[in-house]
Parts: sequence; structure tokens; C-alpha cells
Amino acid sequence: MDTIVASRMDIPWRRAVISVDQFSKPDISDIFATADRLAVSRTMPLGGKSIANLFYEPSTRTSSSFYAAMTKLGGSVIPINEVNYSSVSKGETLEDTIRTLECYADAIVLRHYDDNATERAVSVSSVPIINAGNGSGEHPTQALLDLYTIQREHGAIDGLTVTMMGDLKYGRTVHSLSKLLRLYDVKLRFVAPEALRLPSEYHRDGDEEYVDLDDVIADTDIIYVTRVQKERIPGAIDIDFNYVVTPEHMARARGDMALMHPMPRVGEIPTSLDTDPRSAYFRQMRYGLYVRMALLVAMLGGA
Ligand code: ASP
Repeated sequence: MDTIVASRMDIPWRRAVISVDQFSKPDISDIFATADRLAVSRTMPLGGKSIANLFYEPSTRTSSSFYAAMTKLGGSVIPINEVNYSSVSKGETLEDTIRTLECYADAIVLRHYDDNATERAVSVSSVPIINAGNGSGEHPTQALLDLYTIQREHGAIDGLTVTMMGDLKYGRTVHSLSKLLRLYDVKLRFVAPEALRLPSEYHRDGDEEYVDLDDVIADTDIIYVTRVQKERIPGAIDIDFNYVVTPEHMARARGDMALMHPMPRVGEIPTSLDTDPRSAYFRQMRYGLYVRMALLVAMLGGA
């Protein structure tokens, strides 16, 4: 289907999570309050409901955390994590696959390499679609869990300085998180080589850009590191750079700085930093479980 009939701003996020643009601050507060509650109290409000995990790209955390979230809430999951073993390998279109899964599932979690995939799915689906990453576009549920992590680590979001470093051009988590942070009183700093700078559509007045982490390390509350999205970079670009957070950086960083990464890391953060209490990337994964539970409860009508 060529025509994208769904306009993301017209669609409530409870019907389909397409972009972070759909979320207001009160929405986010409600989701985070539910996540706080679900982190400590186990209820199973989604008994009898099911989701389909439809992943056209590799995933560890997103797919398994949606799986864990749904089953902890009492629901079930149809896992299609390797579409090559489904009828996709026979040439089935995304639209037909969505129409198939909506017969069996109450919502579909979709990761796809096509930036327009979520909107294509929404345009044919009668059940909620959750964007679990659309090409180099967005990753809205990751951004929600990143924001929740920032709140849990710092107690508040307003007033913070957040530095994002790495592949800001193709990194969909950066795109979503930078947009979400605009709802708050946050200073944003971006550290990237020229070839991987944040696209202008995500920039706002007052943003600061750097090429060297040394210039900002001492004065940031969050460092959000990303890997180079090699699979999305067209051949000719020069990606020969090395953005590693070192123990020397950590020695200069604030005592309450939180080091985050959406993962997978491929060398940007050495494992020697894992025991530093400021390294928040494993806690970030755990928080993601609670946020995805909260989203599923809100979208699938649990108590
Ligand atoms: N897991 C994140 C994503 O799917 C980040 C990454 O792959 O680098 O976008």
C-alpha cells in the first residue's frame, strides 16, 4: 500500500503508538505512575488478552520485555521474532501479515526496517499497533522508558542537562527521546562527528553541539550513549570514529550523573564501568519492563 492514510497526530496513542508526538505531559505522568505501581505490585489485569510480537529486525530487549510485560500481566504472546520463518519469506506483504495477526491478537508490537511501516500497519489494522522501532525513524516506547529512567535516577526531569552522544543521525532512540524531552525544561547537548549529527528537524534553539565528550563531561546530568547504526548507513559515509566513555571521563563526571545506553553496546561503554553506581543501563532495561507493562495496561483496557 503506497498511500499512508493514518495521520499520527489524529490517532490517540491508546489506539496506536506511532510517535512520541502523540504523548502529552499528563499522559506521561499517568504512564509513569502506573509503571511505579506495577514495579511493586503484581496484578494480572490482562488475563485472556494476547499480543503479537512482529519483528522484522533483530531485537533482544524490546521483544523480550514486551513478552515479559504481557505474561506478567496475565496475558499471552504470539512471538514472530524471526519473520524469515513466517509467510513473510513467501512474499507476504506487511499489510496481509497485520490482517492475519489481528485475527488472533488484541494488539501488535511491530518492529520494521521501513520508516513508514507503523503507519502502513495502522492503516489496515483493527487492533492497536505499537511501534517498536521503524527504520531510522522512531522508537517511542524506548524513549518513554528512557525518560522514566531519567526520572527514577534523578527524581525529576526539569532542570537537567542531557547529553546524547554517538550516531544521532540514524539512531531512532535519540530521535524519539530528544522530541520527548522538549516537553520539559531540559538543556540538550549533542556529541557526534559531522557525518552523524542530529538531523535539523530534531534541533531547537538553545541546543549545543560538540564533537568531543571532554567538552561536556563535567557538566551534564545524563549521558545517553548510542552505537553507530551500521546497518542503516549507506556505504560511502565515513564512520571511522571511536566514541568511548572512559574511566577518565567518569572521573570528571558528576557524582550523580547517570550513564545510559539503549543497548546493544558495541564498545562505546567498556564493561569495566558496569560496577560504577552511575552506570544506569541495566536499571534502564528493568524500568523498560515497568513502562511497557503500563502501556499495555493502558492500551488493552486492564484495570
Ligand atoms: N535497540 C535500539 C534500537 O532498536 C538501539 C540500537 O539498536 O542501537 O533502536
